[in-house]
Amino acid sequence: MTTPLLLAQNLVKTYTVQRDWRSSLHFNAVDDVSLSLERRETLAIVGESGCGKSTVGSMLLQLQRPDKGRILIDGEDTMSLDREGLRRFRRRVQVVFQDPYGSLDPRERVRDVLIRPMLLHKICTKEQAFARASSLMESVGLSAAQLNLFPHQFSGGQRQRIAIARALCLEPDVIVCDEPVSALDVSVQAQVVNLLQDLQRTVGVALVFISHDLAVVKHLAKNVAVMYSGRIVEQAPTSTLFDHPSHPYTRALLAAAPSVGAQKKKQLLLSDDAPDPTARSAGCKFAGRCSYVVDQCHREAPPLATVGKDHLSACFLAKSLPSTKSDRESVVETPALRRLAAFRRARDNQPLNAEYEK
Ligand code: ADP
Ligand code: MG
Repeated sequence: MTTPLLLAQNLVKTYTVQRDWRSSLHFNAVDDVSLSLERRETLAIVGESGCGKSTVGSMLLQLQRPDKGRILIDGEDTMSLDREGLRRFRRRVQVVFQDPYGSLDPRERVRDVLIRPMLLHKICTKEQAFARASSLMESVGLSAAQLNLFPHQFSGGQRQRIAIARALCLEPDVIVCDEPVSALDVSVQAQVVNLLQDLQRTVGVALVFISHDLAVVKHLAKNVAVMYSGRIVEQAPTSTLFDHPSHPYTRALLAAAPSVGAQKKKQLLLSDDAPDPTARSAGCKFAGRCSYVVDQCHREAPPLATVGKDHLSACFLAKSLPSTKSDRESVVETPALRRLAAFRRARDNQPLNAEYEK
C-alpha cells in the first residue's frame, strides 16, 4: 500500500461557547475525523452548514491545531513541525477560500499577490516570478495584461481565478478549497469548477474540496466524506456514494439536491434548522431527523463501519436500508417538511397523503 499524500487521523477540535454570564459549554466541532488523500486526487467533504467542514479544512492547513489526533504529509507527522518545517508544509498545502472579496488584499495589485509568495519562499528570481505570474494568469483564463490591476477591478469569478492562481504559484501538492464556488453566481460556478478540474489534470495537484453542493462534488471528486454534526457519517468513492448511499443523511442530501428534469422531486427533505452541535446525546446525532430511526439509535452512537469496498457508514441499518430507487423511501420527514406538506395541501386543496404520491 502506498503512503497517502495527506492523512488525518482521529481529529478532534473542541470549542467553548459562553452559555450565560457564568457558565460555558465545550463541544466537539470536529469529533474523531479521519481522512486520507492520495496524490492528484480530489476528496470532497460535504455536509450542512455548521457540521465542521471548515474546521477540518483549517486543521488540514495547519491554521489551527487539533486538540486530538494528528496529520501526516507523505507519512511525516506534522504535529511537531518547527518554524521551518511549517513553512515547507505551507508551501505544499495551499488554500482557496469561499469569499473572493475578502480573500484578496484590496491594496495589492494582482502582480504582487502572485509574485510575493514566490519571492518569500525563494523559489525563483524576480524575473522568473514575473514570467510565472503571467503564465499563471493565462492558465486560469485571465491575461498577463491584467497583472497591474487591483482586485476591485475584477468580478467575483475573476477574483476566484486569481485566488486559484495564487494557490498554484508555489506548485503545491494539495489545495484545500473551502466552498470555492458557493459565493459565485450559478453561471460562473461551473466555469470555476471546470477550471479547477482542468488544472488538476494538467498541474497534477490534489484537492480537498469542501462543499455543500452534491452536484458539484459528483462532477469533481474521486472520494466523498459526508459530515454531520462534527462526524463523518459516510465515506465512499463518489460513484458508490451516489449509487448506493448507505446513510439516511446522505440519502436526504441526495434527494434534496436539485436535478435536471426532477421538478416533482421533493425539494425540502431536511428541516432548515441545522443540528445543534452543542447538544449532548448518547445516541446517533441524526436520530432526531431520521425516518429509519430505531430504539438503538437513541441509546448508542453507531460506529463508522465498513459496508462495502472502501465504503464506510455510521448507521446501524446501513446494510438493511430500503432501495433508494423509491422516491418516497428517501424522504426524511421532519417537522418542517410536514409543515411544508400541510401548507401545500392547503394551498392546492389536495387530499391528505397526496404529497408523497406524486
Ligand atoms: P462548516 O464549515 O461545516 O459550516 P464550521 O467548521 O465553520 O462548519 O463550524 C463547525 C461548528 O463550530 C459550528 O457550530 C460553528 O459555530 C463552530 N465554530 C467554528 N469556529 C468556532 C470558533 N472559533 N469558536 C467557537 N465555535 C466555533
Ligand atoms: Mg465552512
